[in-house]
Amino acid sequence: MSHSDWDGRLVSVPAERAARYRATGEWSDAPTSRRLHEVATRFPRRPAVITAEGELSYADLDARTDQIAAGLIDLGFRRLDPVLFQVTNRMATVLAWYGCLKAGLVPVATLAAHRMHEIGHVSRAVGAVGHLVERGLGFDLAGFAREVAAGHPTLRHVLTIGGDPEPGAPARIEDVGASIDSGRARAVVEAVEQATDPLDVAVFQLSGGTTGVPKVIPRIHAEYWNNALFYARHLGWDEHSRVAHLIPLVHNAGISCALHAAHSVGACLLLATPDARRAFALMAEHGATEALFGHGHYQALLRPEFDRARRALRRSVLSGAKVSPELFARVDDGQSRWAGQMFGMSEGLFTVSPLDSPAEARQTTVGVPIAPSDEVRILDLSSEDELPAGEVGELCCRGPYTIAGYFDAPAHNATAFTSDGFYRTGDLAAIRLAGGRRHVVIEGRIKDLINRGGEKINAEEVEMLLARHDRITAAAVVAMPDARLGEKTCAYLVSTDETRLSLTEIQHHLEGLGVAKFKWPERLEWVPALPRTTVGKVDKKHLRAEVAAKVTERAAG
Ligand code: AMP
Repeated sequence: MSHSDWDGRLVSVPAERAARYRATGEWSDAPTSRRLHEVATRFPRRPAVITAEGELSYADLDARTDQIAAGLIDLGFRRLDPVLFQVTNRMATVLAWYGCLKAGLVPVATLAAHRMHEIGHVSRAVGAVGHLVERGLGFDLAGFAREVAAGHPTLRHVLTIGGDPEPGAPARIEDVGASIDSGRARAVVEAVEQATDPLDVAVFQLSGGTTGVPKVIPRIHAEYWNNALFYARHLGWDEHSRVAHLIPLVHNAGISCALHAAHSVGACLLLATPDARRAFALMAEHGATEALFGHGHYQALLRPEFDRARRALRRSVLSGAKVSPELFARVDDGQSRWAGQMFGMSEGLFTVSPLDSPAEARQTTVGVPIAPSDEVRILDLSSEDELPAGEVGELCCRGPYTIAGYFDAPAHNATAFTSDGFYRTGDLAAIRLAGGRRHVVIEGRIKDLINRGGEKINAEEVEMLLARHDRITAAAVVAMPDARLGEKTCAYLVSTDETRLSLTEIQHHLEGLGVAKFKWPERLEWVPALPRTTVGKVDKKHLRAEVAAKVTERAAG
């Protein structure tokens, strides 16, 4: 697949709206990499990134990523080549991300946890040319990258981060372009930027999706950096802010609420890893003033180890599940410490609590959209009729940074968007007025997925994989409650005979199919037949309630 083929696979925002977003300044003509360079030129000496590994100033980040971009082009990469990212929260991840953007390459936000089932599909879908993997994670991702490349003619380059230099090994991002003269590197980046169209794809994100196959989300230069800038401005950040991030960086939330958001205003990114103890230590040592906490960290925030981390904390944003009064009080003291909530998706829309919303609204709603031209409607589930405030329906949205269509998915796009271009999120929500503004309250979801600590697991995808086992005649997977992660996967299975495979056997089956571990069921329920609703669909509501009762009973007992 060549990049010229993308034209027919991308859905553009209608001209009238695009013109409006340009006129309001919500769309930009500048490539993403130039936006970083402009900020770096304003704040050269300020810290841009701090991790447990060290610190980089804006000037150093800018210069080093220029060199990486030039080095990537010397290696043979060409503008718009997609590069799969399978890395964790490291300094080199930041360098690789911006290095790729400056070379005009398109990072693809896959996960380090993905295996052949996921990577094979995504790699083919986008025609990946590069594959960036991290060494030293316990699983040999570099060996895996070689295996992936064997079956994929477009995949020509493996890049690595971490580990020691080895003769004959793939290029390490840490070394790429290291000896290139800074003037030449800058000229290379400027030439790439000259060739960049604001409508070019900047980044491919992945959707949790509503059907069996994960969808690819094209985010374009015109909107992507500005999405992050809206987030940063909404929260009142500036160059003195120190933004802690604990959850995976190469997710849309990581990029839009942390990496790009911090750098859009000259702030410092304190890039931590999910381990709460280490993350809190980094926050305490470097005086984090801002932080985004996903559901997986809610419990840790209640523990004493968080006390030191919150000393300099001015604003905390909570996201992923309902916020208890106890949790809210840990991060909001009504004076110097403010807390709010965020709701967002890789397809675009973010809602965030306004700084001046009443505390009650910040604890119980996910706030308001962050861009002036964002439009949110709560629609009736079976029509395009808008529901009045207070009624629960499907959250739908349209705006400057919400996609107009998934990549190469005309059939899915036909149902995922309304006739006037609103994206049907699959989330259930209602509007509540607070402080004179329309706040969004999340009330559940229609889409059939499991949200395991922020990682989305598509039920239909796992069911199809389970049904490939020759001893399974039917499978239904549902979310079961989990104190730490929010949800985990339970599989209801029907066997061909009296035998009941063990959980380990089921997990081996999925491992054999190359399925990422976080998607493996963590509990099995064998049933003679799956319960059906009156219209013949599997009654998942019943299954969810049943397993929730069992899990709660066990926890109580
Ligand atoms: P992703 O594209 O992976 O960021 O996932 C987006 C989805 O995550 C949304 O459509 C919601 O289903 C879910 N989500 C995001 N934020 C929240 C939140 N604050 N509360 C509940 N669910 C959320």
